[in-house]
Amino acid sequence: MSVPSPEFQLNFLTKLQRLFAEGDFTATYKFALLISIADIAVQHGQDNNAPLTIDHRSIGKKFIELYWQQTAPFKQHSLLSQNLGIQAAVVSKIANFRQSNKSISAALSSKLLITAVTSTVVAQPIKYMQNLGGVTEEFLFKRGDGHITLLPGIAYCLRRFQPLVQQLSRTHWIEHIKGNKQNIDLIGQDNKLEEFLFETPRKSLQAIGLGLRKISTKCFYCGHTVTDVDVDHFIPHSLYPRDLAHNFVLADPKCNRSKSDTLAARSHLQRWLDFIETNKDNLSEIGAEAGILVDFKSMNYVALWGYQNALAGGSQAWIRSKSYEPVEASYLNYWADLQA
Ligand SMILES: [Zn+2]
Repeated sequence: MSVPSPEFQLNFLTKLQRLFAEGDFTATYKFALLISIADIAVQHGQDNNAPLTIDHRSIGKKFIELYWQQTAPFKQHSLLSQNLGIQAAVVSKIANFRQSNKSISAALSSKLLITAVTSTVVAQPIKYMQNLGGVTEEFLFKRGDGHITLLPGIAYCLRRFQPLVQQLSRTHWIEHIKGNKQNIDLIGQDNKLEEFLFETPRKSLQAIGLGLRKISTKCFYCGHTVTDVDVDHFIPHSLYPRDLAHNFVLADPKCNRSKSDTLAARSHLQRWLDFIETNKDNLSEIGAEAGILVDFKSMNYVALWGYQNALAGGSQAWIRSKSYEPVEASYLNYWADLQA
């Protein structure tokens, strides 16, 4: 199947800019919707013009994932307001659930909560997302019964421009919360807002590090003994900013710094795939205890996407300090079953 033309891709980026400039954002829902469909495109889309049908409930689940961390009290105080009027319904529904159950995995398997959140998502952002300057322009998706369908070429663009879409959405989301008068007193001079909204708490990362050390005390990349609990995102966080339990490996500071935002080379990739397969259940347990999302299948789709994107962009993969190799098409053979 063909891929979108350069003109189409440019037009997509232009429309995206217009969406942020001209869209009506009384609540933070539209940022969440954009991040959600971008994430689903990474997991289930293809690098061609194929349209992608997404059922409403899977978007509802993404909303729970995204808002979960944000519905904890800010600075142990009260909830940040995510709407210019009364509190956003999604936030209230999730905050309510949290009072009786503190685990995100319970929230993501609660049919009642998913139904409640999904109904708001359908009535609000899905309906109004594509209003630009007061006119509806269906440039991302068509609405259907129980689902939306990303138009031909959109899943491709969301996959290709994933870091950009994520960054833009997050930046505007943060600005929205900062600009909401109801939050001014609560936020004050605090500059940890971004961390609170989007980053995995340090405590969770430490728990992951401690868990990984029970499997091995060696740096995943160079094999030297690691004294600390430093963890590295195997698929770099800058490429894919959603934390999944199976994406963490133990790494010494030197390898961690040197690898930085690059993908790992073939030899590491091969070992990593073996590592997560062999320790699948163990890593799931470590993740669940640390409050990190556990989704082994998604992890594989995300890794495949990461290397596909690197291949398309002609990226280099990290072997060791100052040593790289070009990403090759044969890397993708590791996921032959996912591509069938
Ligand atoms: Zn190392």
